[in-house]
Amino acid sequence: MSKRILTGDTPTGKLHIGHYVGTLANRVKLQNEYETFIILADLHAFTTKVDKPDEIAESTLQVAMDNLAAGLDPAKATIFVESGIPEIYELAAIFSMLVSHNRILRNPTIKDEIVSKGLGDQFSMGLLNYPLFQVADILGVKGTLVPVGVDQLPHLELTNEVVRRFNSMYGNVFDEIEGLVGEVPKLVGTDGSPKMGKSLGNCIYLSDDEETVREKIMGMYTDPNRIHPTDPGKVEGNPVFIYHDAFNPNKEEVADLKARYEKGTVGDVEVKQKLFVAMNGFLTPIRERRKEYEKNPDLVKKILSEGTQKAREVVQGVLVEVKQAMKLTF
Ligand code: ATP
Ligand code: MG
Repeated sequence: MSKRILTGDTPTGKLHIGHYVGTLANRVKLQNEYETFIILADLHAFTTKVDKPDEIAESTLQVAMDNLAAGLDPAKATIFVESGIPEIYELAAIFSMLVSHNRILRNPTIKDEIVSKGLGDQFSMGLLNYPLFQVADILGVKGTLVPVGVDQLPHLELTNEVVRRFNSMYGNVFDEIEGLVGEVPKLVGTDGSPKMGKSLGNCIYLSDDEETVREKIMGMYTDPNRIHPTDPGKVEGNPVFIYHDAFNPNKEEVADLKARYEKGTVGDVEVKQKLFVAMNGFLTPIRERRKEYEKNPDLVKKILSEGTQKAREVVQGVLVEVKQAMKLTF
């Protein structure tokens, strides 16, 4: 089995530290071992931002820069734009024949998104279709490993259901895929809500400048029951300590802060200041690489257009195989 990664992002805004620990770190680490494809699913962004085409176009460039800044090397990884590959939508239409409407409605990520993004009962058909687009994104390049945050696992399950149904009815075309969840499966928001999400306004972005990061960290939600620095505090589930664990390389410092927090001998301010220093150390090289790409947006566009062309050829080949297997060859 060839080792191929397919994963990506919805260009609904810039990428944040949750994306990093959920999936970007694995992308960067594994690009040397796997043939790596990164999709920017721009049409998918219309499920929540249908009236904001300019914003989606701009975010597509920004998310490309975030991936490059995080350390994806365009010489190793193919970064591409979904809407540049219409064959993906043809595959999605084909796969839609293999999946029941009920199956999509049962998808917990879809249910969550309808609630958390306040879509009410006005969500589009596109929202229900997008898990199928995602199946087509993955199978279109015959991805085998998919590094994602935990919220994406239901879509990966659906992908394997499609693989099994497809192969059993039309012959072996696809291999089952495997998900790879990052070190933090779902990073909490700065406001303490269960997910840092770029549509939720509770993020520290990879591109935030030093002052912005400081302000966001100093304003973070901690233990709501702790009024005075001398009150014993709760470490478990406390966003500030979750971030310390994920981003502070100085494990001794973190252990010391935790012990003192539980005893009530350290204030939130010190815990946050130390978190800021660690976070800034983590973000500085990313910010610096990003500046180089910001200076040269034409280079980013070139990387995307070359990547899209390369990925398109792969998807076209897979579509031919699919149509032959299904005798759609008239
Ligand atoms: P949107 O709110 O528009 O869906 P998002 O922040 O969820 O945006 P996506 O582009 O949907 O971002 O997700 C890209 C990848 O990052 C996915 O693999 C997703 O699981 C992962 N991811 C997103 N947010 C987090 C998070 N808070 N913690 C860990 N992984 C995350
Ligand atoms: Mg999402």
